[in-house]
Amino acid sequence: MDYEALSKQYVLNALRRPGSLILERAQGSWMWDIHGKGYLDTMSGSAGPAMVGHAHPAVAAAVAQQMAKLPSVNLLHDSPPVIEFCTRMASLAPEGMTKTFLCTGGGEAVEAAVKFAIRVTGRAEVLSLSGAYHGQSLATMGLGGMPALRKWMPGAVRWPNFRQVPSADAYRPLLGESSDSCAAAIHALEADLDSASSCQVAALIIEVVQGPNGHSVFERDYYAGMQRVCRQRGVLLIVDEVQTGLCRCGSTWACDLYDLRPDILVVGKALGGGFPIGAFITRRELIPEGLESEPWHMLTFMNQPLAAAAGLAVLDIAEKEKLSERARTLGAQFTERFTGLARRYDVIGDVRGPGLFVGVDFVEDQRTKAPATAACRKAWGFALDRGLITQFGGFASNVYKFKPPLTTPVEDFERMLDISEEVTAFIQREVDQQRKTASVAVPATVGD
Ligand code: PMP
Repeated sequence: MDYEALSKQYVLNALRRPGSLILERAQGSWMWDIHGKGYLDTMSGSAGPAMVGHAHPAVAAAVAQQMAKLPSVNLLHDSPPVIEFCTRMASLAPEGMTKTFLCTGGGEAVEAAVKFAIRVTGRAEVLSLSGAYHGQSLATMGLGGMPALRKWMPGAVRWPNFRQVPSADAYRPLLGESSDSCAAAIHALEADLDSASSCQVAALIIEVVQGPNGHSVFERDYYAGMQRVCRQRGVLLIVDEVQTGLCRCGSTWACDLYDLRPDILVVGKALGGGFPIGAFITRRELIPEGLESEPWHMLTFMNQPLAAAAGLAVLDIAEKEKLSERARTLGAQFTERFTGLARRYDVIGDVRGPGLFVGVDFVEDQRTKAPATAACRKAWGFALDRGLITQFGGFASNVYKFKPPLTTPVEDFERMLDISEEVTAFIQREVDQQRKTASVAVPATVGD
């Protein structure tokens, strides 16, 4: 069958480009295309689902058994896997968070969390950060702070009651390079809550580390500051851990690393081991009397046994295989290697991110931090030729996002590191070439 031709003709895609693969099977950290060529996957599928490795046999068996036994349940009723999954989540979630809502995707869980926050507070405005990504539904797009993902829409519309405040991005501070740019970002949040919003804000939603924005990390004080400002004003803190959650950052939840105490914690991706999943968990005392008998939210696939069965299997694997520990060990190995490489390759502007959630920010110029977008675009194809599936993210698609399965065996991991170094050398050559061309085109003014 000519899959390439049929795909072009019949599949409605996004993000396709020359060199996109048609993948046929996967196991652990490896994926194979329809021509039989094998690739190591540094992205765990679409940024995380293969945290336990692709096609983990325990997840496959759990889903298959549940499918044969009880795949779906009417919304008015319940099922043992869902009850077991939510009970298990309560034992793992940050202290005091005990009630879980289960659905089929991260953005869907964000949207449910936002509706819940609006219902609970009786307020309708929601803030998010510049650089944020919380999904691509019509509502969650309006919470996004990456311009490229919304500007195509006429008027770049969003819900009128959703808006962004500037974040305290540590590498490219939006409020200036001064030493107190973190304090400035907290003031900006306070200013919005106290004046612009007329005290109508239900929630602030944040990622602990901004994944799609290029693994942007914040200073420790920023988390404490946001938390304090929200608590003082009765604004709920929704922490979106769709990418960072479940072992990825070296602890069960990334919020634990920064003493962040969410009112609502949103998870997805990794939790399903490849099965579609999303969930939020919250504190019981936030739930108004009677809410659970109201139609505040309804989805055909909410609280369904198949996702719960996948989730239970993944939680078992995470515990048995000590995946948080593994994220710390492998993450340190990658970070150390790239911090060392930064001494040799001046295209490495920044290496950042906790655990095995690392980003390498490639720049054309260390001083201006101009993103090496063109070189990274070519590097994607170079890596594929070398048998490595990568993704460059961030507002300028110049951040090498490295988050392979936490179950990656040592020898495969080392191979990923070696090819990643070749990719870096490739980007360096490309940028050096650009510099040469630019210096020929525009000669430096003598004596300037
Ligand atoms: N939040 C974050 C932080 C994400 O990275 C994503 C997906 N990339 C989402 C929400 C949306 O998840 P989904 O694509 O499963 O709807």
